[in-house]
Amino acid sequence: MDSFPRTQMLKAIFLPFVSTSHLIPLVDIARIFAVHGGVEVTIIATTANAIIFQSSIDRDANRGHSIRTHVVKFPQVPGLPQGMESINSSTPKDMAYKVSEGLSLLKGEFQQLFRDMKPDFIVSDMFYPWTVDAANELGVPRLIYIGGTYIAHCAMDSLERFSPHTKVESDSETFLLPGLPHKLEMTRSQIPDRFKSPNDYFNYVMKMVKESEEKSFGSILKSFYALEGAYEDHYKTIRGTKSWNLGPVSSWANQDASDKASRGHAKEEEEKGLFAWLDSKAEDSVVYVSFGSMNKFSSAQLVEIAHGLEDSGYDFIWVVGKIIEGDEDVTGEFLQEFEKRMETSNKGYVIHGWAPQLLILEHPATGAVVTHCGMNTLIESVDAGLPMVTWPLFAEQFFNEKLLVDVLKIGVSVGAKKWKNWSELGNYVVKREDIRKAIALLMGDEEEYQEIRGRVRKLSDASKKAIKIGGSSYNNLKELIGELKSFKLQKINGETQAVA
Ligand code: UDP
Repeated sequence: MDSFPRTQMLKAIFLPFVSTSHLIPLVDIARIFAVHGGVEVTIIATTANAIIFQSSIDRDANRGHSIRTHVVKFPQVPGLPQGMESINSSTPKDMAYKVSEGLSLLKGEFQQLFRDMKPDFIVSDMFYPWTVDAANELGVPRLIYIGGTYIAHCAMDSLERFSPHTKVESDSETFLLPGLPHKLEMTRSQIPDRFKSPNDYFNYVMKMVKESEEKSFGSILKSFYALEGAYEDHYKTIRGTKSWNLGPVSSWANQDASDKASRGHAKEEEEKGLFAWLDSKAEDSVVYVSFGSMNKFSSAQLVEIAHGLEDSGYDFIWVVGKIIEGDEDVTGEFLQEFEKRMETSNKGYVIHGWAPQLLILEHPATGAVVTHCGMNTLIESVDAGLPMVTWPLFAEQFFNEKLLVDVLKIGVSVGAKKWKNWSELGNYVVKREDIRKAIALLMGDEEEYQEIRGRVRKLSDASKKAIKIGGSSYNNLKELIGELKSFKLQKINGETQAVA
């Protein structure tokens, strides 16, 4: 992208939310603005959150880009352990509320920073709706970063507008999501609880988010036109707001191996064994199994996954995730034996902490992904050209599954039937046979599944094109920065005329 003379540089503040899966992509977007858009970027983050991404900012700054982090101390909240400032799988639900309380206490300090830093625009996460008024006070645009896919937000709009889920007899009866570009069917048990409980607090939160979006300069999302263009267009129509799709942000921002290796909580020294293992495997032979940064499974579910993977006969990497408190002994013992068995047979590699996901996905040995359909993993897997076994769990993931299985036809569903809250284990268990079967189909040689692999490879090419000169996301960034520069110029001209 053309670089701008420093004197004409736009100054931006980015304010990411504190859950890992919102923080990581918005930091990637901030880095894209600095590296490819020539913007002078300041990211505001609390101490423990800044640690998650600071090394990438240091690297970009050392490469000569104008980007820095402004670190803010997290306030003391009674009962909240020091350093607990993020919301992810290791955050108990009651602590997540306390983290939110701490964030509310920081609002005044954030607002003062906005005044002191005098940005030309502010990009903040959807979960800080108040920032639109703070930006208006300064007379600068606020862009809202919307987590999730366009398709998910269109599907949720359809539920709100037409309430099709109230017109079926049971939780398992399918209904059509009206008004969407494709014929998508779901059941009541697969949609988020808030649509079934008008008094759910999250309805209030989403109402605030929507109102703040309406008052914003526009929204930023992180997929790309070839992935869900019909829904990008539909979203702009139903919202009536401007929206810029800037993905895939992970591969745009993290082009160097060092960026990919240190993304999130990764520790390079722990990864040597993993890559030696992957290097020893044949091309496209390994299934990568991960359920993101927020999920917790019951012991019963972990046992089913272990058996499902073993029974499939395919080599795998499994990111086990958080084991629930009080269950460490039972699950731990089972897993230890399982891991020992897998080590002896050399069939599986189990990761208990954070996986270097981008590096695993791009490794030639990785052939497919078992995913909870988290938005980031979905796009990262498509970018890497990997088909998916879809296993949605919470948030908007059941809508994302529709994109992968019904619209793009690049995924095989494990058959998950029940939505749960991210912080809960849920009482629903997907059985080992269903897990085995979905993996076997996806990895197998039948024509239908070879076609799936062909389609995802084409989409991977489109993903790579989107961020190159002339690509859809590249053009979106260029257009957006152009509009922000015009806004700034008009503001300066207006102020000059007022003074004259
Ligand atoms: N991630 C990772 N290693 C892990 C777990 C997650 O690198 O062990 C990254 C992953 O690459 C993705 C994000 O964290 O960018 C997870 O986001 P996603 O939307 O897939 O799921 P969520 O965490 O929101 O459930």
